[in-house]
This record gives sequence, C-alpha cells and structure tokens, in this order.
Amino acid sequence: MQIGIVTLFPQMVRAALDVGVCGRALNRGIATVSTTDPRDHATDVHRTVDDRPFGGGPGMVLKYEPLARAIAAARSNVPEGGRTIFLSPQGRRFDQAIANELSRLPGFVLVAGRYEGFDERLHEALADEELSVGDFVLSGGEVAALAVVDAVLRLLPGALGDETSAAQDSFGDGLLDCPHYTRPEVVAGRMVPAVLVGGDHAAIARWRRKQALGRTWLRRPDLLAGRDWKQGEKALLEEYLAEHNLTDNGGRNFDGTGCAHEREPGPILK
Ligand code: SAM
Repeated sequence: MQIGIVTLFPQMVRAALDVGVCGRALNRGIATVSTTDPRDHATDVHRTVDDRPFGGGPGMVLKYEPLARAIAAARSNVPEGGRTIFLSPQGRRFDQAIANELSRLPGFVLVAGRYEGFDERLHEALADEELSVGDFVLSGGEVAALAVVDAVLRLLPGALGDETSAAQDSFGDGLLDCPHYTRPEVVAGRMVPAVLVGGDHAAIARWRRKQALGRTWLRRPDLLAGRDWKQGEKALLEEYLAEHNLTDNGGRNFDGTGCAHEREPGPILK
C-alpha cells in the first residue's frame, strides 16, 4: 500500500510513524508512507502557500496552486484506484469501518490543512472525500492524518505480531474489547477474575465474549442496535446483566434502544 501525506510539517508525521506498530509495518515494507510539502511546490522566493481570505476576517487560507501541485505530486506515487482524502472537521466521521475500507485500497493521499483551512476550490476540484476524526477542531490535519494512517496500517497483514489481535480489538467484531489484566494476580487489593487464571481456555473465551457484550451494552449501546447477533450472544449478555444487577436498568431494550421514559420498565431481554 502506498500512502501519501501532503503536509506543511513533514517532520512531524515522519517522527510519529517511525515507532511502534507503524514503524514496524513500514520497516517490513508492508506499506510506504511518503510526505509532500506544499512549500516545495510554491513558485516564489518566500515559498508562499497561504494568503489572506477574500472578504476579510482572521487567519490565512491555503492557496490553490501550490496545494494542487503538491497533491498531484503525491497522487503520482499512488497506484490506480487510490483516493485523495482531505482532513477536515467538516468531513465524514472516521471510524473502524472506514479504516477497514481504506485498508483494502492500493493507496491513498491524505491532505492535512492548517490555518483556516483550504481554498474551497481545492475541496471541489481535488477531494474524493473528506474525513473528520471527531467533532473538535485541531490546529492542523497532521494529527488527524496520523490517526487514519495508524488505524489503517495495523489492519494490514503482517503489521501486528498476532494476526487475530486486530479482530479482537474494540469494533473488530462490532463490540468493545473485553478488559485485560496482567501480573500480579492481586494489586492494590484488587484481584484478577478467577476464570483468567484457571487455565480453561473455553471458559476464558466465554468470559471475554460476555464482558465485551456487557461493556458494549453499558458504554456504547448504539453499537448493538442492528447487530447481527451470533448464537448464544443474547444469553451471554443476559448473564452479564444479571450478574451486574442491570436487569432493571430503566427498561432499556436489548439492542440498547428505549429508555424508561419511552416505555414501561420491564424485562430487558425479550
Ligand atoms: N476553519 C476550519 C473549520 O472550522 O472547519 C478549521 C480549520 S483547522 C484550524 C485547520 C486544519 O486542521 C483543517 O484544514 C483540517 O485539515 C485540520 N483539522 C482540524 N480539525 C480536524 C478534525 N476534527 N478532523 C480532521 N481534520 C481536522
């Protein structure tokens, strides 16, 4: 996979991609990430890439020509079928499903903005899509680009030490991950759940599934709405809710919908 990042701060993204899972994936040649600095595509002696906004107001706007040339240069390294993605707080919200989607592409170019953002005509002419990493405003698109690249790289075969690891992470199977523990068995008066040290692998797998279902129900019920439930999952969740005295929790439905004020409190599992 060939990834390009158009950024005014290439040193920032290179440093972050040098370490950990990303660094290993890039060292192994599983993907390549190249950076393109729009200043290298400016034509004046000051290497100008921004200008004052038409109509006045604060801040500077990234100019069309140097950015367009930088994006074209970055695109020339990405195979046919790649995409040009602008990072923007106004874009589609990035999530694991989009990371999966991007991991199947031959490559893509991420365009990181700064200042007030891009001349709107860049979006119109050159963006295949816009991605946001959340409903907040960053000073620049570099951190957002790094989030996207990291989430995608770790999905590529060979990037993680254990191939099953990404599937077991949160969102891998539409659920949040189960809790994890390591030695010592007792710390600060808190014990590891007995099942995890019992050596019964089937019981451990069952416990982890139950925790993942329960946590998702508690923390992100929206993920359960419309879930394609696997055999035994509803019973496991029912068990979790009973163990945590949650069967009378405001009458919320099994799929996380329906609050007490919307319907009569009653059994959660129907
Ligand atoms: N004026 C823009 C707005 O309000 O929509 C925000 C510009 S922001 C200060 C500068 C750049 O940071 C943006 O062009 C974009 O590339 C990046 N950025 C900021 N917040 C982001 C977010 N939530 N997701 C992705 N990129 C973001």
